[in-house]
Amino acid sequence: MSYSQLDRPVQFLKGVGPKRADSFAGLGVTTARDLLYHVPRRYDDASTVEPIGHLEVGMDVSAVGRIRSKGILPTRRGLRIFQAVLEDDSGMITVAWPGQPWLDRKLREGDTLLVSGKVRFFHGRQLQPREYTVLGRSSTGGSESAIGSGAGMIFVSYPATEDIPQWVLRGVFEKNLDEMLTWADDDEYVTQRMKVEHGLPSLRDSLAWLHRPETMYEAERGRRRLAFDELFFLQLVQAQARRKAIEERPGISHRRTNELIRPMHEALPFELTGAQARALREIYADMRSERRMNRMLQGDVGAGKTAVAVFAMLLAVEGGYQACMMAPTEILAEQHARSISSMLEPLGVGVTLLTGSLGAVERRAMLGSIASGTARVIVGTHALIQDAVVFDSLGMVVIDEQHRFGVKQRMALLEREGPTPDVLVMSATPIPRSLAMALYGDLDLSLLDEMPPGRTPVKTALRSPDRRPAVYDFVRSEIAAGRQAYIVYPLVDESEKVNLLSATREYERLSSEVFTEERVGLIHGQLAAGEKERVMREFLSGDLDILVATTVIEVGIDVPNASVMIIEHAERFGLSQLHQLRGRVGRGVAESHCILVAEPGEDALERLTVFRDTTDGFEVARADLRIRGQGDLFGSQQHGRDPALRFADLLADEDLLVEAQQEARAIIASDPDLQREEHVQISNHLHARYQHRLTMYGVG
Ligand code: ADP
Ligand code: MG
Repeated sequence: MSYSQLDRPVQFLKGVGPKRADSFAGLGVTTARDLLYHVPRRYDDASTVEPIGHLEVGMDVSAVGRIRSKGILPTRRGLRIFQAVLEDDSGMITVAWPGQPWLDRKLREGDTLLVSGKVRFFHGRQLQPREYTVLGRSSTGGSESAIGSGAGMIFVSYPATEDIPQWVLRGVFEKNLDEMLTWADDDEYVTQRMKVEHGLPSLRDSLAWLHRPETMYEAERGRRRLAFDELFFLQLVQAQARRKAIEERPGISHRRTNELIRPMHEALPFELTGAQARALREIYADMRSERRMNRMLQGDVGAGKTAVAVFAMLLAVEGGYQACMMAPTEILAEQHARSISSMLEPLGVGVTLLTGSLGAVERRAMLGSIASGTARVIVGTHALIQDAVVFDSLGMVVIDEQHRFGVKQRMALLEREGPTPDVLVMSATPIPRSLAMALYGDLDLSLLDEMPPGRTPVKTALRSPDRRPAVYDFVRSEIAAGRQAYIVYPLVDESEKVNLLSATREYERLSSEVFTEERVGLIHGQLAAGEKERVMREFLSGDLDILVATTVIEVGIDVPNASVMIIEHAERFGLSQLHQLRGRVGRGVAESHCILVAEPGEDALERLTVFRDTTDGFEVARADLRIRGQGDLFGSQQHGRDPALRFADLLADEDLLVEAQQEARAIIASDPDLQREEHVQISNHLHARYQHRLTMYGVG
């Protein structure tokens, strides 16, 4: 990318210099561009700032004034209060910060402050700030203009540090913003057409509004354009991966004969839900086209993904191809083989289960039937595609629990010889549509957002630790009625640092002191894989009544007879995790219960209450995103190297994400290598800023 003034080290900006440049690094700002993209933390609309003379006891206000005098006031009880008298043209007020005497060193007489908080009565009116910002310091000059200019002013506050306080940042912006904005034109990539179609302002205007808005509306328009940029480039990389997956190699046009699909419909003991029917239409359309399918089927546990996948596999099979389904573990593969087998048996279609535990002879026979094409529907672990399993005519691959498989494995399917099979990845982790689009933009998305009718929702209750005896009594009564229970802990071993119950210790206590008549097993992530499978099988076959566990049981396992899920220290688990755990019960005919044992603080209480009151996985997921924020969104996937989304808000900006995805896909469809004149800037920007993502997806 050609050199831009924005690449200059921040040191060379007016009012910075080498020493401050070091401190700027602490804010993640090393170049002029970094500074220009330093996102304001908040905006305060001056039209809502009250003149100090008008402040009255009981008001909750924002006020701006200059420090006239200040000092530390000791109280009789030893508390030290920092006080400042704030003044504007209309009057004066005392502002008090109890217990923060160090502010005396940070704030100076003559500083201009923006404070917000409640006005109380204490020796006259007194403001006790929740928040304050130093808008200006008289020694820096200039900043004074920020005060008292009346309506139409927005106060901008930035993330600041001890070394680069607010007023320094403001001063540096004041001296350099105009010039930096002219440099910003170098970074503009949005074409005239895009501006018109998406109503996007220029980059220069957007950045100007970000830092110096005259109205809240301008600040929002600026943010929205910058959010579009973030989403657009994420989608652009994924659009390239998608194109590679579906177009670079010939796909298969599956032929629908209805030879199997119709009898399957007739044999099905239920009607497909609207969501299942919609997903199937999308999948059939993909499969019948000559482009390869690369689609994700997302739906909560029990939404009926397996049934959809079976229909999709039948489309491949009735047209003469083989279909396979891969699961993350052997137990899950067996489970799938069993349920698919029972669906396909009446149609005379056999299911071949290929796992690592087969004997050599048996395995050879199965590999033979897969290679000769006698085996039509094959179920196994992901070793199916990694090993040298040779298929006769693989036309369709279903990948279960996609989050256990990375982008790499998905892309690895493309490396196979010959026509590339259609791919359907299934995920039982409900996430909001926008989050799915952001994370899996290279896939097309089908959502099962409707549960089959007639389910009894799991009853969820919140209990404090002192109610444990009653909880144990309840477990006992369920077991007496022939059912089974899980008891989940956040830790395997007792940790010295935190006072938490651990699975291992509690297993000993529960089995020797509490559930002496019942059969109790233990499973956790530190057991060897074979041992885990053995314990799981014992529970599955009913040889254990209670399974003490960590979150290893979170995914996939299906024990219909288990009707109770106890989660200890529930406050330690995220909402999505809780939802996955709850999904382990409620899979049979019996009414099921999820009991959260916790002594939650206020934050956790909000989470646990939301969880108790809804069983809709997508709603839980939205709440999770709202409460936790999107901070480490890409963390696990991209090793923290990506800039997090700083402007875009996945919950609020879903419409923008849809536009960004459509735009990115349209551009890649018409100009796959971004070689057209009007796309040169896009290409430059992509390679300069997103090279590691391109590499991750194997497209650049
Ligand atoms: P998932 O794979 O999404 O967890 P499954 O496909 O295993 O869900 O379906 C869960 C249960 O619901 C199965 O017993 C299945 O037979 C049943 N089921 C699936 N679709 C429907 C439907 N449309 N109506 C009623 N029951 C259904
Ligand atoms: Mg196809």
